[in-house]
Amino acid sequence: MRLLVIADVHANLPALKAVLAHAERLSVDQRLCLGDLVGYNAEPSACIEAIRARLDVVVAGNHDWDVCGMQMPLVGTTSQARQAQDWTRAQLEPEQLRYLQQLPNKHVEPGVYIAVHGCFLNEIHVNGYVTQTMLRANLEAVAGRKEWPNLGFTGHTHCPLLAYLHRGEVHWESPSSPSSWPASAQAVLINPGSVGQPRDHNPDASYAYVDTELRTVEIIRVPYDVDATAAAFSGADLPEAFARRLYQGR
Ligand code: ZN
Repeated sequence: MRLLVIADVHANLPALKAVLAHAERLSVDQRLCLGDLVGYNAEPSACIEAIRARLDVVVAGNHDWDVCGMQMPLVGTTSQARQAQDWTRAQLEPEQLRYLQQLPNKHVEPGVYIAVHGCFLNEIHVNGYVTQTMLRANLEAVAGRKEWPNLGFTGHTHCPLLAYLHRGEVHWESPSSPSSWPASAQAVLINPGSVGQPRDHNPDASYAYVDTELRTVEIIRVPYDVDATAAAFSGADLPEAFARRLYQGR
């Protein structure tokens, strides 16, 4: 199966449009979004509509559920993040809030992959960062569940990643060119990076093109009009810092 994988769009419409236009050249069997459609940036409603129209599978992110009151804000949620949540909620139609609320906690494509927003360690998958120190635990969790395929997709960190467990060893990289994993890997994790707020010091939008039969992943970076995203903040009650950070990719 050939997959277009996006995550963490975060209401950044110019970045989303640039990625979807760029991906048109690819042959794709399924388009997958790993959640966090909204939050941080200024065009949540248009991003929800574009994702509903263009993506085949969408799972919930923590921001999607936070904005419709599905979970209490986590300890450590900053006042800026709360301000953005309140503003975002006010921009959305009741029907769009219901759409975010019904997004699934995970998606299993039988025999192919499991997709979540956050981590694989808890039954609620929208939270929990799969950072470097958490790789082994998450790889073992994916390898250990019989009902889950051994390929897992995760977002949430906003940093692209390929990691796999092979003969008991954890291998990982942040792929900058097409990369692959061994057929005998016990578990594989892929993070496509973030469309709308990259945090790996590269401001370009990030997405992944994955071929599950060839066992290859390509992380693709797409420049987009950051000025247009920042301009959309004018008149919105959103912290300006959220626009400034886009220029630095952090
Ligand atoms: Zn996010």
